[in-house]
Amino acid sequence: MVEISAAVVRENRGPFSIEKGLTLDEPRPDEVLVRMVGVGVCHSDIYESQVGPTPAVHGHEGAGIVVRVGSAVTRFAEGDRVLMSFASCGACRNCLEGRPAYCEKFMTLNLSGARADGSRPIKDATGQEVFSNFFGQSSFADHALAAERNLVKVPDSVPDELFTVLGPLGCGVQTGAGAVLNTFNPNAGSTILVAGAGGVGLSAVLGAVVASATKIAVLDVIPSRLELATELGATHTVNGKDADVVARLREIAPGGFDYALETTGNSQVLRTLVETTRVGGQVGLIGAGKPGAEVTFKHSSLLSGPIVRGIFEGDSVPQQFIPRLIDLHQAGRFPFDKLVKTYPFEQIQRAVDDSEAGTTVKAVLTF
Ligand SMILES: [Zn+2]
Ligand SMILES: [Zn+2]
Repeated sequence: MVEISAAVVRENRGPFSIEKGLTLDEPRPDEVLVRMVGVGVCHSDIYESQVGPTPAVHGHEGAGIVVRVGSAVTRFAEGDRVLMSFASCGACRNCLEGRPAYCEKFMTLNLSGARADGSRPIKDATGQEVFSNFFGQSSFADHALAAERNLVKVPDSVPDELFTVLGPLGCGVQTGAGAVLNTFNPNAGSTILVAGAGGVGLSAVLGAVVASATKIAVLDVIPSRLELATELGATHTVNGKDADVVARLREIAPGGFDYALETTGNSQVLRTLVETTRVGGQVGLIGAGKPGAEVTFKHSSLLSGPIVRGIFEGDSVPQQFIPRLIDLHQAGRFPFDKLVKTYPFEQIQRAVDDSEAGTTVKAVLTF
């Protein structure tokens, strides 16, 4: 057992409070114990803390240093710098086809609060089991366990300062950038609309710049985020609170956008995207709606409209895609760190509050 400190949520909508004296299992043969250096705050952490089981330890954009490896681990050794990404089984049909983000065991491995066999790696100071192994890690803690399969080695060329804020590449950043670069994979000169200028949406904007899109429109309701979108390469911004958003978008892309990405989880926004994307174009759906939410479309807007599809984790194979994003960053073409604001781990609640208020795009907790 490893004694750890972690941010524990004891009740829905209750605070993330740092507790000491919790225990984390020693690594199993296929697991790696990591000492955290930085961890991003993703919307799913906040959402899960509000509606999911408690007590719980969330956190799923971890970056850290390997402390110990299980007996069967071959790719990592003590002292390696790693990113922690989502968990997948490696054996189901989608994993075997190279699409681990659609792993048939995704929900069990990432969102059940336990390993696949039901065991919970974290217990609190009284010995009570804690909802953990969140996204195969639960990295809102000074140490976390992950399966070897979920880890990405960080190249030696990455300076320590960048390494500290690299965690979001494991979820939010690869989700937005990957939706553009992997799923849409647009021809140069394409047009794209991104709804929602949070961490995922702005990562999609960065991806669209890399992909040489000529029109990159961003829809949001927070003016400071729209300004940041422009700074990152958006060519047009639209405030969703303005009158007749559809008309404004049709003005920007008269025949409809080639691609549109929904990151807000708002059904009405999704409908707007379907109505402003060209026939045969693609609308990608990333934002999670409220439980039970339904969407309605005009029949005709789908019949002679775009393909609408859900996208998980930017369709990425983390060990293949994340090093590409790091290379792009080092070439000066993917400045994702402009989205980041750092907070000491102890200030996790302030980071969560700022994220919810929209004043911080991507909080990263440092240790
Ligand atoms: Zn699988
Ligand atoms: Zn996430």
